[in-house]
This record gives sequence, structure tokens and C-alpha cells, in this order.
Amino acid sequence: MTDTIPEAPTPEALTEKLALSWTHTARFLTTASQLIHLPPTELPEIAFVGRSNAGKSTAINTLAQQKRLAFASKTPGRTQHINLFELGPKDAPDALFADLPGYGYAAVAKAAKLRWQKVMADYLEVRRSLSGVVLMVDSRLGLTDLDKQLLEFVAARVATGEVKLLVLLTKSDKLNRKEADAALRATTDFLAGMTTEDSDVAVTLFSALKKSGVGDVALALREWVLAHRSPGEVPDAVLAAAPVAEPED
Ligand code: GDP
Repeated sequence: MTDTIPEAPTPEALTEKLALSWTHTARFLTTASQLIHLPPTELPEIAFVGRSNAGKSTAINTLAQQKRLAFASKTPGRTQHINLFELGPKDAPDALFADLPGYGYAAVAKAAKLRWQKVMADYLEVRRSLSGVVLMVDSRLGLTDLDKQLLEFVAARVATGEVKLLVLLTKSDKLNRKEADAALRATTDFLAGMTTEDSDVAVTLFSALKKSGVGDVALALREWVLAHRSPGEVPDAVLAAAPVAEPED
């Protein structure tokens, strides 16, 4: 048997590893049932939204590599709450994740639906620190009317680039290649209507089960957060891992 020297990881893989080690720092901060009860913050905030059962809790837990982080949102009585998670060094947090209430339960009474609309519209239109939205969509269903309604709440801020948007087509392990391509195309076509010169809008396939797309999502979110800072604030560790130019032969 011959010994093989392990290949050195590419700069891209190193950066992805760093992005993942950043998402792994996520820890519970607080919960609130109304926008006014959320703490004001200077940190960039990334909101996770989606229909109930779209795979939102699983996606957050997978990114954070923790089994029960996004479990509070499933607790009866807490399903209409906004849960905040903090990321980065404990003594110098650099971002927040906000887990917003899932929507679309057919059985929910009209009053509760109206309340959901108000909480979501308030948050997405008004929350000053909101810098990105991750929308989880079951890849077998595609964007539903409720998802489109939610996107309308935030469309004006997405158009200016103030809020970035990433759509995750979840549970992509359940699709074959052809179905996955069709899901990607349909979502891309719809999102084209929200895209401007200043916007940052993307869609990607995601499977928590197969762990596919996880590194890409971590990288995208990390980039949002770093872009939010001024260059002087970028920590050395990140700069050190930034892709370097290939040495010339
Ligand atoms: P939430 O209501 O949006 O938070 O959805 P959950 O995260 O609770 O997921 C809903 C269901 O989808 C659960 O039964 C999960 O096990 C399942 N699920 C979530 N992610 C995946 C995935 O990547 N692949 C598959 N096959 N199932 C998933």
C-alpha cells in the first residue's frame, strides 16, 4: 500500500470551512411576540422565513450544527414568536439570525392569520437591522401564494439592495435532476421580477439530509455580514483565509 499525501484544501474550501465555523457559533439570544419587544441592535440581522414544514428549523439547526437550536419555535405557545440567535465571538458578536413564525397552517383561524400578517409585515418592512432574508421553500411545492405575499412585504427593500434575499429549495434530496432543474428555473423566473441593478437575489438547492448546499449557504450569509462592515473592521482571521492569487510559474 502506498501512502498518499492528503491534498491541501483549496482557498475556497478553507473559506467555506471558516463560514461554517461561524454559523456553528449560533446561540439563543431572546424571543419576542412583537416587533417592539425585540432588542434594537446595530448588528446585521438575517431572517429565516418559510411555510410551516418547509424545513426551516432543520435548515437552521443544520447550519448551526446543533440538534435543537431552532426548537423553541416549535414549542406550543411559541409558534408565533420571533426567536433571535447571536453569532460570532461571545465577547464580540457580529450578526443575528431571526427565526420568524412559520405560516400556512390550513387550520389556523382567520384572526391568527391576520396577526401573522401584521407581525411579518411589521418585521420585514420596519426592522432597521434587517440585512438579509433566507426564504425556505419546499422544492416539491415551489413558491406558493403565501411565499409570494411574504416577498411582497420585503420587495421594496430587496430592490434597493438594503435587504438581500436567498431562496433555499429545501429537501432537494427528494427530487431527481430533471425535477431539481425545473424547480430552480421556476423560482429563478419568479425572482427575476424582483431583481434590479442594486439587488442581491439568489436561489439554491438545499438538503439538510444530504448536507448539500450547506457550505454554500454559510458562505453567502458570511459574505452578507462581512459586506455590512466597513473594510477596516474585517477581522484578520478572515483576511488571512481570503483566496490568494495563484503563484506565477
Ligand atoms: P419547519 O416547520 O419549516 O421548521 O420544518 P422542519 O424543519 O420541522 O421540517 C419539516 C419536515 O421535513 C420534517 O419531517 C423534517 O424531517 C423534514 N425535512 C427537513 N429537511 C429535510 C431534508 O433536507 N430532506 C428531507 N428528506 N426531509 C427534510
